[in-house]
Amino acid sequence: MKAFQHLEVWFVTGSQDLYGEETLKQVAVHSKEIADSLHADPAIPLNVIFKPTVKSSEEIYAVCAAANASTACIGIITWMHTFSPAKMWIRGLNILQKPLLHLHTQFNRDIPWSTIDMDFMNLNQSAHGDREFGFIMSRMRLKRKVVVGHWQDPLVIGKISNWMRAAAGWSDWQGARFVRFGDNMRYVAVTDGDKVEAEMKFGYSVNTHGIGDLVKVINEVTDASVETLVHEYAERYQLMPVLQKGGERHGALKDAAKIELGLQYFLEKGNYKGFSDTFEDLHGMKQLPGIGAQRMMGKGYGFAGEGDWKTAALVRAMKVMGTGLQGGNSFMEDYTYHFDPANPLVLGSHMLEICESIATGKPNCEIHPLGIGGKEDPVRLVFNAGAGPALNASVVDMGNRFRLLVNEVEAVAPFAELPKLPVARVLWKPYPNMNDGCAAWILAGGAHHTCYSQNLTSEQLEDFAEIAGIEYVKIGKNTDIYQFKNELRWNDAAYK
Ligand code: MN
Repeated sequence: MKAFQHLEVWFVTGSQDLYGEETLKQVAVHSKEIADSLHADPAIPLNVIFKPTVKSSEEIYAVCAAANASTACIGIITWMHTFSPAKMWIRGLNILQKPLLHLHTQFNRDIPWSTIDMDFMNLNQSAHGDREFGFIMSRMRLKRKVVVGHWQDPLVIGKISNWMRAAAGWSDWQGARFVRFGDNMRYVAVTDGDKVEAEMKFGYSVNTHGIGDLVKVINEVTDASVETLVHEYAERYQLMPVLQKGGERHGALKDAAKIELGLQYFLEKGNYKGFSDTFEDLHGMKQLPGIGAQRMMGKGYGFAGEGDWKTAALVRAMKVMGTGLQGGNSFMEDYTYHFDPANPLVLGSHMLEICESIATGKPNCEIHPLGIGGKEDPVRLVFNAGAGPALNASVVDMGNRFRLLVNEVEAVAPFAELPKLPVARVLWKPYPNMNDGCAAWILAGGAHHTCYSQNLTSEQLEDFAEIAGIEYVKIGKNTDIYQFKNELRWNDAAYK
């Protein structure tokens, strides 16, 4: 079963009429074999659909128009088995609205030393045919992913798969709706931004509802459905004794369940893929949504606090990209540092809302006071997240462009109990090291809010940024602050 059973990428092979029927027949047989092999590969997360060889401007235009019109098709893979004069591609590429991966491969892996002749040479021309195609894409200043190598090489298949996941996240954003309950946290800069530009650039819309609209839905939730959900909490989580049935705070657990159900109904009814809220606008709410926001994220919705719609949308896209992979993706905030020179760490968390998809073991369900918001104590899930490679990603609005910033990190398991910390938490070491990683993040204007991912790679996010046509900046093992500052400076010039 494919992770994205309903999605397709089309495999399109370019050629021309010059070669005669026999060669073109061979081209089609080889192309189909490659497309079918990719389709059958368990590492490929969606359906690869073979398309007949395109040999003229008209056929190229037609396949690009069909790809645009197909709701299942989220991108095309192109390959020039033979030579396909690339002026034929101009009209088609001009209208293509779907992501493109240029697979620079050839059918045979090795040169058949003892039998190679001119017929073989005429059939197997991708080494120069793909260069002709590459030129026209560069000449037209078109973004694409170029993957080079034999089509059966697992590394090649892995890169194709990465790009497909990025394309799936991108496709999910097109026409997506996100709702903000209340506005931006007062005076906060990085969570704000241009929603009109975002809709033009990213394809998703962000619109506001007064918190009262949500409160109305929450108030209509039935006691029976609250009972059912409270029962599910008791099954899935370790409930603090006071929250259990008969406990003195059991009423607060019911209130939290009612908020979660209200959120769920509101999002389903409005066909929303994510939301943000703010503790500064909770009129009529009993608690700031804690467990409710955590579990909505667990179900695949995007979320970020304090009106941060950019991060909410990013969390959603990254959850889609990670479909079917081990590990999770969560809203995150760099909270507190451990500056021990022998073992420097960042403690990531939020007031409440960390997604249970990154939890190790069975989360605790707890109730504690919250200093801000002025509401009753919120119920929340408390847990640790596991060790291993991870990353933080942030989209910031630089005024004249959006920037996707990624920091690769190494998560570490907590080495001490944190008995008084009432929130879910993660510990990580940023690459290339604590000081340079944090310095680079600050220099790049990265937000304090991020999406933390256990199952995506920086390459997938780079593909995503390329598809979106936005700036991509990575902080990783090889980041050097001097070069990094130059990169930011040069990018500023490039986007002028
Ligand atoms: Mn925050």
